[in-house]
Amino acid sequence: MNPALTATAAATAREALDAGRVRADFPCFARWRAAGDTLVYLDNAATTQKPQAVLDAVTEVYAGGAGNIHRGVHRLSQRATEAYEGARETVRCFLGADSADDIVFVRGATEGINLVARSFLAPRLTAGDEVVVSRMEHHANIVPWQMVCEERGARLRVIPMGPEGDLDLDALEDLLGDRTRLVAVTQVSNALGTVNPIGEIVTACRRRGVPILVDGAQAVVHGPVDVATLGCDFYVFSGHKVYGPSGVGALYARREHLESMPPYQGGGDMIRSVSFEHTDFAPPPQRFEAGTPNIEGAVGLAAALDYLSGLGLERVAAHEAGVLDHAVRRLSTLPGVHLVGTPKERAGVVSFVLDGVHPHDVGTILDARGVAVRAGHHCAQPVMDFFGLPATTRASFAVYSTVEEADALVDAVAEVQEIFA
Ligand code: PMP
Repeated sequence: MNPALTATAAATAREALDAGRVRADFPCFARWRAAGDTLVYLDNAATTQKPQAVLDAVTEVYAGGAGNIHRGVHRLSQRATEAYEGARETVRCFLGADSADDIVFVRGATEGINLVARSFLAPRLTAGDEVVVSRMEHHANIVPWQMVCEERGARLRVIPMGPEGDLDLDALEDLLGDRTRLVAVTQVSNALGTVNPIGEIVTACRRRGVPILVDGAQAVVHGPVDVATLGCDFYVFSGHKVYGPSGVGALYARREHLESMPPYQGGGDMIRSVSFEHTDFAPPPQRFEAGTPNIEGAVGLAAALDYLSGLGLERVAAHEAGVLDHAVRRLSTLPGVHLVGTPKERAGVVSFVLDGVHPHDVGTILDARGVAVRAGHHCAQPVMDFFGLPATTRASFAVYSTVEEADALVDAVAEVQEIFA
């Protein structure tokens, strides 16, 4: 997914991932096969399937005896606390953060972004200030900033995108000014598959002392990420897009930011002491985790990250690149099929439209042929507006995807064309 990775991918090609074995780790495929149905699941950018290791980890949280974290003196509470805090350490390690205290468990990327918008940005934002996002953001990385900007009389500015679906980084340099309070950019576009040169973007921001949030929702699943090397201020991702449970995700933030930020929500487990006159808040990350968290979600997420790390992220990236390249190459040879976005670097996703067929019809007919894709605006309406389209059909790949599945997609698309010819 990036030049360094391509080099690593080449080096590891000899020990390529065994997609068949990986597939066997995900029980849903066997279940569909046993029911006599094929499941060509190509909606992985929306959510991923779960390996047995994740199902087992979540079950074990309850099978071994449920307990609430942090407050209890009994064994079940201690067991839950160890599992939950152990999961935080797994996330730290996966992201390359310095300390587990820099990791906040959240509901997902959306909540991570809202937390930063409310607790970091809002107190620093005054009328006339600016927040910069890009043209290719998911709504989750637009709306929270827009809401805070509207409340404070600040302005949302947008890094433009070219027709291939790559950001115009020269324009970013011009957008960064004295009033820029934050930049928020996705690492990988969920609508186009564009891999942004996030290192360059972070460097441009840091040169001017502008904090940057990286939306890693579509990135962490496709290749290694190291927030320390990246140097970003904030990084968010969701568990369900990385083979983990839904309702859990993580926010990484620089320590100095977390320490300066007021709580996001009030409640139990985020305090040092409470009286009717005054509350002392706990230090981060507890300060940002009010109430009983998604304990089994965090444990399941850690199991998913361990599973992915065990496969080797470079090998995962190399495998997925092979399948995706195959799909892109074959789709682009079909007359009447138009790829939406032809970025310099792509990960996980290919979006396309067919002459004379609405994407929803494409999606419905593909589903009848056992191929699950997404049709719609992909929560990225500004991207659709840019291309003058109401919607696209999107196929998105994962570690268990195979070249045969890419062929099944392309063959089914060709059948759709025949139906509408
Ligand atoms: N950012 C991107 C790039 C996404 O693809 C998504 C989910 N489609 C999100 C943010 C939001 O993720 P979630 O709904 O899991 O919070």
